[in-house]
Amino acid sequence: MKGFRVSGHGGPEALEWGDWPEPVPGPGEVRVRVRACALNHLDLWLRNGVPGHRFPLPLIPGSEVAGDVESTGPGVDDLAIGEPCLVAPGVACGHCDSCTAGEDHLCARYGLLGEHRDGGYSEFVVVPRRNVLQIPRGLSYVQAAAGPLVFLTAWHMLAVRAGLRRNEDVLIQAAGSGVSSAGIQIAHELGARRIFATAGSAAKLEAARELGATHVFNYREEDFVRGVKEATGGRGVDVVFDHVGGETFERSLRALARGGRIVLCGATSGGDARFNLRAIFFKSLSIVGSTMGSLGELRQIVHGFERGIFRPIVAATFPLEEAPAAQEALASRTHFGKIVLTADPGALSVPRPFAGEDAA
Ligand SMILES: [Zn+2]
Repeated sequence: MKGFRVSGHGGPEALEWGDWPEPVPGPGEVRVRVRACALNHLDLWLRNGVPGHRFPLPLIPGSEVAGDVESTGPGVDDLAIGEPCLVAPGVACGHCDSCTAGEDHLCARYGLLGEHRDGGYSEFVVVPRRNVLQIPRGLSYVQAAAGPLVFLTAWHMLAVRAGLRRNEDVLIQAAGSGVSSAGIQIAHELGARRIFATAGSAAKLEAARELGATHVFNYREEDFVRGVKEATGGRGVDVVFDHVGGETFERSLRALARGGRIVLCGATSGGDARFNLRAIFFKSLSIVGSTMGSLGELRQIVHGFERGIFRPIVAATFPLEEAPAAQEALASRTHFGKIVLTADPGALSVPRPFAGEDAA
């Protein structure tokens, strides 16, 4: 099958286009024909390499896939060939204590497509049956691919880990990113009172407003701590949603009200932060980490897409063969929302309801 893989780290040239062996679905597995695959910063880390981290190379990148069921392995008898589907990006063992408790993202063997096993920068991807979800009705393959990882991450951060409650105030950092564009929508859905958002351009701030942000700050020109304090009468926000990390962490803490929580799912500006521990106990603050979320939460998010509550934001599409250019576009951080690779022009279409699924 045609696709890209990474066998050694480097720049765009480390993405090797070629003809690779077709993966064969084993017992309980499904082979999906990839129609659309969304990009994530993880794809850049895989390509560039991360000091002290070993990826199982060679590896096909790509964590977020939408496509059609192409074939099934032994024991899978409840899917029709050709059925449009969304692939859950996280693969867990399915039988440990965490998995059976519905917290598969805490499974010791949890791994992502495109990080621990082959992903979607190719014609086919093979995943366990439980990772194959019905494509949300009304969404194109491209929109469906742009949804799962960022919405799952943002939902778990705000609803579960930070416990954002109705009428609380929240600050969403780096609103132009995929995960933050999901975070704004989720904060809105959870009933946040004021949604503050930071971004580096007027266009991104306008887009953040359209998604539901009530106050926006250009972090290149404005001090968001002062802005938050002014708007909240000196109190600060209840929750900071962050994946910028080192560069903004100390200021994010200062933007928190007493009893506030900062929830982190990444540290794109760097993993080292310097801050005064006294603020943590004087103000009763919580620093909370979060990675992904459960398969059950992802199913709830799919319902949110179908009901029109959540909208995946697609910034641009590139044909699969142009993945190196797509990655450079991602690295430039000039887009608002997700960049998606397409296998064919049909990826932009909304699949018709699949025969036999109407009773579902
Ligand atoms: Zn497990």
